[in-house]
Amino acid sequence: MSDSTDTDTDTLAPVPAASTSAKGATPPAIEVKNLSRSFPGVRAVQDVSFTVERGQVIGFVGANGAGKTTTMRILATLDYPDAGEVKVCGYDVVKYPSEVRRCIGWMPDHYGTYSNMTVLEYLDFFARALGFRGEERLQRISEVMEFTDLTSLADRLIDKLSKGMGQRLCLGRALIHDPEVLILDEPAAGLDPKARVELKHLIRILSEEGKTVFISSHILSELGEMCDSLLFINQGRIIHHGSAESLRRGSSATSIVEVQLAHTPERLAEWASLNRHVTFKEATRTGGRIEIDSIEPEVIATVLRHMLRDELPVTDFHLQERKLEDAFIEILGEIEATGIPIVS
Ligand code: ATP
Repeated sequence: MSDSTDTDTDTLAPVPAASTSAKGATPPAIEVKNLSRSFPGVRAVQDVSFTVERGQVIGFVGANGAGKTTTMRILATLDYPDAGEVKVCGYDVVKYPSEVRRCIGWMPDHYGTYSNMTVLEYLDFFARALGFRGEERLQRISEVMEFTDLTSLADRLIDKLSKGMGQRLCLGRALIHDPEVLILDEPAAGLDPKARVELKHLIRILSEEGKTVFISSHILSELGEMCDSLLFINQGRIIHHGSAESLRRGSSATSIVEVQLAHTPERLAEWASLNRHVTFKEATRTGGRIEIDSIEPEVIATVLRHMLRDELPVTDFHLQERKLEDAFIEILGEIEATGIPIVS
């Protein structure tokens, strides 16, 4: 989709001091309340509400057409809500789009390239458009190129960049004005594994610097690694908001642990039969799977401690977790069965 809709209508509106609320507290990075947006024949986003606190990394997950880009474009002031309230860094996106744009770095799923420009010219163009002048402009461009590892590609024409280099350039463009909040729509789409790892590394650094990152992706396992929480959207509605950890665990009251023993895998079943918190589930070539009647980390740690105390030659002990993809599919299944979203 193009970014053609412009909503810059705030020329006469007074700009509030939104970096602190009336009570003096810093407002959340993103606040969405009852947001809805329809297109002819499509209810793209329906009554969506969520909050992203400052400094968090949030993964926005959903199938094709679920409503991710529509939501993100509204956050980025590129489209209007039909209903609801959307604030970024305390500024309403409809009333104060210019303030919002100063706070955000936006990376669209498809970015327009200027084929006859070099990397340096491209960043310079946006730095000028953002109002940077003189030494400060050169400094910002240099910092951004260094951060995104584009310095050696400064003179390369944009249409000669690989997909991964292009995504780094687009991220660099989003970072020029050092925004507090990054809104990244499918930044990893189409990248090879190495480029995805590089991108993940950059996002981790940005998060360590205290930036808020709102990132959409289809690759759930990757989002799980880098996000504080995951926001699932399906057919325009939020169906879950929670940590990757809680999703992997699900609603189970017990823990399944895979154990490997050196030399004597058969000892595991015998040991489990003598421990009341543990049930032996099945044997594997090198040990087996046991079920512990608790999800409390202390209880799980005690089971491991007792194994070592009883001189079981444990070489591996790890919790078996649900894959995030499985969790997502399960949530969809539960909603189809009950019709009730599981928003935490
Ligand atoms: P994808 O992962 O494929 O990018 P998405 O979750 O980002 O999907 P959206 O792009 O937000 O989904 O689209 C949500 C729904 O709204 C889709 O049915 C889409 O066809 C529709 N839609 C989005 N923008 C427009 C538009 N400008 N005009 C008409 N329909 C639109």
